[in-house]
Amino acid sequence: MNARTVVISGASSGIGLATARRFADAGDHVVNLDLSKPAAEDAVGRWIKTDVTDWDAVRATVDGVAEESGSIDVVVANAGISLRRTFVDMTEKDIRQLMDINVMGVMALWQAAARHMIKARRGVLLATASTNGSAGYPYYADYNASKAAVLALSRSLALELAPHVRTACVSPGYVMTPMQRAEYTDEMFAEVNAKIPANRHADPAEIASAFFFLASDDARFITGQQLIVDGGELAGGTASA
Ligand code: NAD
Repeated sequence: MNARTVVISGASSGIGLATARRFADAGDHVVNLDLSKPAAEDAVGRWIKTDVTDWDAVRATVDGVAEESGSIDVVVANAGISLRRTFVDMTEKDIRQLMDINVMGVMALWQAAARHMIKARRGVLLATASTNGSAGYPYYADYNASKAAVLALSRSLALELAPHVRTACVSPGYVMTPMQRAEYTDEMFAEVNAKIPANRHADPAEIASAFFFLASDDARFITGQQLIVDGGELAGGTASA
């Protein structure tokens, strides 16, 4: 397989970093758009400091990558934040910031890349949604709404950009990343594991595998769908039990 140009947002940490490794290990050219510089031992591909909420910067960066490499083959819009808060305690500023990163950030990156993919008549637009986009969870109302928006965006663009450009989302359940671990006490960690049929959190590499599959030719008839990778959490419909 020829090396692809794969643009991933938020690949300095967690799921994005594992995904960058998965593509780089396969010989693809990975470009990481992240606000933070990856730790030296985590540097995969090329890091371009980018704030996904800066629409013009995202477009200029993607245009630059396309010009240099000749194509944008795969995009993984992954940068995202979450904060545990009761709905009535959320400030307008906090909600707008979360929506700006989790929703507008995906739109900015997908739009910038889609322009090149439409011209090239091929490409795959992927994003990290969440099980929270399909089921309710208390204390994450804004986050859950943001992930449902990403799923809706993906479905609509699957229609608008067909037949040449595909879209898909990976919806992870609980994944053991620095962001996730920071939110837990040891007691909470054990409690959450007990709610997951697999009885553990996912390893970020297990989410990366789903992205790698969706980007591949093996997934060429899949578009507009989400691949839920949650250790069985949503299977029984008891996600928030
Ligand atoms: P993480 O905090 O480890 O990584 C997120 C990365 O995004 C960081 O490197 C951060 O610098 C970057 N980022 C944040 N804001 C940015 C911005 N404005 N511009 C550019 N980069 C920015 O988090 P993670 O757990 O790996 O989460 C990655 C994605 O997976 C998010 O969209 C998250 O909502 C989703 N997700 C995570 C879990 C989980 O359990 N960890 C579950 C479901 C979905």
